[in-house]
Amino acid sequence: MNVPDIIIAVDGYSSTGKSTFAKLAAGRFGFLYLDSGAMYRGVTLHAMESGFAGASGSIDTAGLLASLDGVDLHFEADGLHIGKRLIEPLIRSLEVSSLVSPVAAIPEVRAWVDKRLHLFSEGGRVIMDGRDIGTTVFPNAELKIFMTADPMVRARRRFDEMVAKGESPSIDDVYKNLLERDRIDSTRETSPLTQAPDAFVLDNTDMTLHEEIVWLQGLIQGRFSILG
Ligand code: C5P
Repeated sequence: MNVPDIIIAVDGYSSTGKSTFAKLAAGRFGFLYLDSGAMYRGVTLHAMESGFAGASGSIDTAGLLASLDGVDLHFEADGLHIGKRLIEPLIRSLEVSSLVSPVAAIPEVRAWVDKRLHLFSEGGRVIMDGRDIGTTVFPNAELKIFMTADPMVRARRRFDEMVAKGESPSIDDVYKNLLERDRIDSTRETSPLTQAPDAFVLDNTDMTLHEEIVWLQGLIQGRFSILG
């Protein structure tokens, strides 16, 4: 399908499969995929490793902000890097997941990440997933999608993913982390997670990935008058 050079914003709750969906769509349409959540996870890992964020949940905001401009956080083909170091899958751990939402609630951290997301997206033809892409980062994105699914179904998917990677979390901890992240993300003052008024809702509780992509193709064909 010949998709024009647009920006597609994919927002939604934690573990709704945004990145799997966006990555696959990017491959199909020849778009660049950008995972904005990975950037917040990268900042959080940096904060933990540098002693600005502790297991107790305490964050040295001033220290973290002062250190940010020295952090070379960028994407390469194999994922997110700090300088030369690949930081996948470290940024997907439950420890980082537990601290990332408070870190992402700091307005200056958001401004720092937003600036980089804009730099990485120069030239368009990008599909980016996150929490505030259609509302704050790219409010003029030509296509906005808001993803949601039943919370228990989401927790189970996340749990299965972690087990497949050799981790052994408890389903209870995964479920609680997911609800807590949704709560913090939706209620923070700066760029809270909300559905943009012009976003199309994708509830994938009972959908396969294939069905989601067929749904997206139909949406794009309709919106941009493209023949299948
Ligand atoms: O998408 P992912 O679950 O990896 O994102 C991790 C966290 O990063 C989210 O729970 C949220 O706190 C934060 N985030 C954000 N804004 C975005 C993307 C992610 O606040 N655009």
